[in-house]
Amino acid sequence: MKRLILSIAAVVAVAVTCLAAGRDTYTVIVSLDGFRWDYAEAFDTPLLDKMAQQGVKAVMTPSFPSKTFPNHYTLATGLVPDHHGIIANSFLDRKTGDIYSLSNMKTKNNPKYYGGDPVWLTAKRQGVTSATVYWVGSDVNLRGGGHADYWQDYNHKPRLKPYERVNEVIRLLSLSEDKRPHLIMAYFEEPDASGHSHGPASAQTRARFEDLDLMLATLWNRMQELPIADKINFIVTGDHGMTWLNPERTVPVKKYLKTEWIQTIENDVPAMLYVTEPRFADSIVSALKCVDHIRVWKKDEIPAYLNFGTNPNVGDVIVLPDVGWTFSDRKAGLMTGTHGFDHTCSDMWVGFRAIGPDFKRGYTRESTFRNVCIYPLLCYLLGITPSENDGDLNEVSDLIRTGN
Ligand code: AMP
Ligand code: ZN
Ligand code: ZN
Repeated sequence: MKRLILSIAAVVAVAVTCLAAGRDTYTVIVSLDGFRWDYAEAFDTPLLDKMAQQGVKAVMTPSFPSKTFPNHYTLATGLVPDHHGIIANSFLDRKTGDIYSLSNMKTKNNPKYYGGDPVWLTAKRQGVTSATVYWVGSDVNLRGGGHADYWQDYNHKPRLKPYERVNEVIRLLSLSEDKRPHLIMAYFEEPDASGHSHGPASAQTRARFEDLDLMLATLWNRMQELPIADKINFIVTGDHGMTWLNPERTVPVKKYLKTEWIQTIENDVPAMLYVTEPRFADSIVSALKCVDHIRVWKKDEIPAYLNFGTNPNVGDVIVLPDVGWTFSDRKAGLMTGTHGFDHTCSDMWVGFRAIGPDFKRGYTRESTFRNVCIYPLLCYLLGITPSENDGDLNEVSDLIRTGN
């Protein structure tokens, strides 16, 4: 019996090793925060164009809400925000009364909020070395695995500048084979910051995006000089798009709602309202249901296509403004662009480019695909078994090259 158990253990070990060593390719995925799908069409982007010509070009839909934290963690886990727990950039923890927010270090760094199995941990468990450069969630000491083998702390200052992040990716790819990560996930704050300050089609956002394309070209050229150049799958994508805001397009909160109904309102696009008493959810919905330019639902009546509302921390009432509108009493005019809207609206869609040995050459996909499919795609590229997720490798299998 003991011998049988030992030999089963040996078979399992061999199977895992084969899986882990199943691919000798490397995957570098870059997220450009706020990479609206049509920036590369409208702006001068030789590197992204080259990736389209020699690799794959597609448009990806974000998950709802189309915000940074929910979507980066969806890219990493393949779960929609409602399922992984980072349901917004800020939300109320109903059990403790704490506010989770990306700027509140106590909550941001608490692993209990981060469900699912981010790909760097899936890889680590299966013996595949991975690295992150500031990806959302990667600087949190996650339950069930900690961090990637190599990682950077977003809260540690000074933060690496964009070109220093490029250097870090090249340094990691230049490590000796036994130390070299097979997965590198790198995050860049632009063009989101410019999109917010100046709007999506502004001269400033154009200039910043064209700078990013130059930076990506530097990364690409330096990867081409490495001995493993022809083994690198290189993906450039992002978390959501961006649309124009207009200070006149604001629906004021206090005009319609009584302060005693509300414990807190988190975010404005979409707004999550937490009530002081359950009956006030109905009061809010009645007060807002005939107001133009917003849609309002109680949490258990949110339309199914938004995939939102089962997570216990979702607000009692959700107010989703129409594209370009906000629901807020804040002084208008601070932002020119924003995101967070209905993820099926094309202004929220995201660019996707991929080039490398596992991607087709010169292939443009006509229909969009969901960002939950990135996780199973990365697992496929790494030759690892994905954990349970909301994506589907079949939805993106047309991007993959099989044979030569
Ligand atoms: P958003 O409000 O959705 O546009 O969020 C974008 C912000 O997320 C940027 O200003 C980044 O500085 C911030 N951010 C991105 N990654 C992290 C991180 N790991 N920790 C804290 N903040 C982050
Ligand atoms: Zn973002
Ligand atoms: Zn943003």
